[in-house]
Amino acid sequence: MDPERTIYRSFALSAGLVFLFCLVIIFSVVTATNRKLIYEQARTEARSLFHSIVITRKWNAAHGGIYVEKKDGMTSNPYLADPDIKTTDGRLFTKKNPALMTREISEYAEQEGLFRFRITSLNPLNPDNKPDAFEEKALKLFEQGEKEAFQTEQLEGKTYFRYMAPLFVEHACLTCHAVQGYRMGQVRGGISVTFDVKDIKKIQDTYTFIFIAFGFISISVLFGIGLYFTKRLIRKIAEARQQIETMAITDDLTGLFNRRHLLTRFNQEFERAMRLKKQLGCMMLDIDHFKDINDTYGHPTGDMVLKETAGMIVRSIRAYDIAGRYGGEEFLVVLPDTTFENMLHLADRIRETIAESLHARAGITIKDPVTVSIGIASATTEDSSANDLLLRADNGLYKAKGQGRNRVSWVTYEC
Ligand code: GH3
Ligand code: MG
Ligand code: MG
Repeated sequence: MDPERTIYRSFALSAGLVFLFCLVIIFSVVTATNRKLIYEQARTEARSLFHSIVITRKWNAAHGGIYVEKKDGMTSNPYLADPDIKTTDGRLFTKKNPALMTREISEYAEQEGLFRFRITSLNPLNPDNKPDAFEEKALKLFEQGEKEAFQTEQLEGKTYFRYMAPLFVEHACLTCHAVQGYRMGQVRGGISVTFDVKDIKKIQDTYTFIFIAFGFISISVLFGIGLYFTKRLIRKIAEARQQIETMAITDDLTGLFNRRHLLTRFNQEFERAMRLKKQLGCMMLDIDHFKDINDTYGHPTGDMVLKETAGMIVRSIRAYDIAGRYGGEEFLVVLPDTTFENMLHLADRIRETIAESLHARAGITIKDPVTVSIGIASATTEDSSANDLLLRADNGLYKAKGQGRNRVSWVTYEC
C-alpha cells in the first residue's frame, strides 16, 4: 500500500479511537451528573414536602387534634380512645389526630397524582402503617442516628424517588402518647415521601440529550477538521517528497536524467540485457564546437541550444529508452531491445534533425547550423559492465569528431 494511505489510515484509526473515547467519557460524565442532579433535585423536593407535613402535624398536635363535623360515611379513628363528641345542639364531631390527618392528606395527594406520604414506625399501632422494606431499613438507620434516607425505586416501569426522615417525640405528642411510654426527643417512627420522578427525569433527559448532541457535534467537527488537515498535510508531504525525488534524479537545465541516475539506469539495463540475452545499445552525443556557440552568442543562447538538443532527443526516442545529460554538452541515450542497425538509423535521424532545424528554433536563431557528433555501441557477450559499452560509444564519438564532426561513428574493438 502506498505510504501516504498507510499514514492516513493509521491516523484516522487512532483519531477515531480518541473520538470514541471522548464520546464515552462525555456520555459517562453527563449520565453520572444527570443522575446526581435528579437525586439532588428530588431530595430537595422531598425534604420540603416532609417539612410541610411535619409543620401541619405540629399545628394539629398543638391543638391536641382537630375536630371536624362527622358527616355521613365518615368513620371515626378506631385507634383513639374517645374520638367523637356531640355538641349541645346535637351535632356530631370526630377527632382527626396528626396520624389520621397525615394519611388523609396523603390519599388526597395520591389521587391528584402528586406524591404519597406514609407515617410508619417499627412498632405501629395501626397494622396498615407497617413499614415496607425501604422504610424499615430507614427506620433502623434513624435509630443509629441517621438523619434521613433516600433511594430511587422502579415500580411498574416508573421511577419513584423515596425519601424518609425521622419523627421525634415533641411536647405536643405527649398529650396523647405519654401513655404509650413516649419520651421527649425519642425517635418514634418516620414519614416517608414517595413521588414519580418522571418530570424531573424528562427535564434532565432533555439536558442530557442537548449535552451529548453538542458534545457529539463538536467532537465530530474537530475530528473532521483534524482529518481534513492531516490528509492535506500528508498529501503536501508526499508531493514534496515526490518533488525532492524527481529533483534528485533530474538535470535542472534540460529536464533529462542527471548523470548519476542515468548511469544507475544504464547499469540496470545492462544487467537485464545480459540476463535475458537481449539487445542493448547506447549512444553518446556531443554538440560540435559548442564553445564557439557560447563565445559567439552568449551563455544563455548556449543554454537554449542544450535544452533544444535534449528536447529533440526525447521526441525522437521511445518511452522506455533512457536519455540523460552525461556532462556539459554531452548526452547519453540507452536503448534497450534495440539492434545496432536500428540504433544507427535513429542516431542519424537525430543528427540530421538537429543539423537541419535546431539553429533556427524560436529563441535561438544562430547563423550557422548546430551539429552534433554521435558515437554508438551495442552490447556484446564480451562486455563485462555497462562501462565497457560506454567506453566504446565514447571512442565512437571521438572517432566521429576526428572524421570531421556532424556524423555517427562506432568502433568495433574493445578499449
Ligand atoms: P567539440 O566540437 O570538440 O566538442 O568542441 P566543443 O567546443 O563543443 O567542446 P569543449 O569541450 O571545448 O567545450 C564545451 C563547452 O561547453 C565548454 C563549456 O563552457 C560549455 N558548457 C558546459 N556546460 C554548459 C552549460 O550548462 N551551459 C552552457 N551555455 N555552456 C556549457
Ligand atoms: Mg564535449
Ligand atoms: Mg562539444
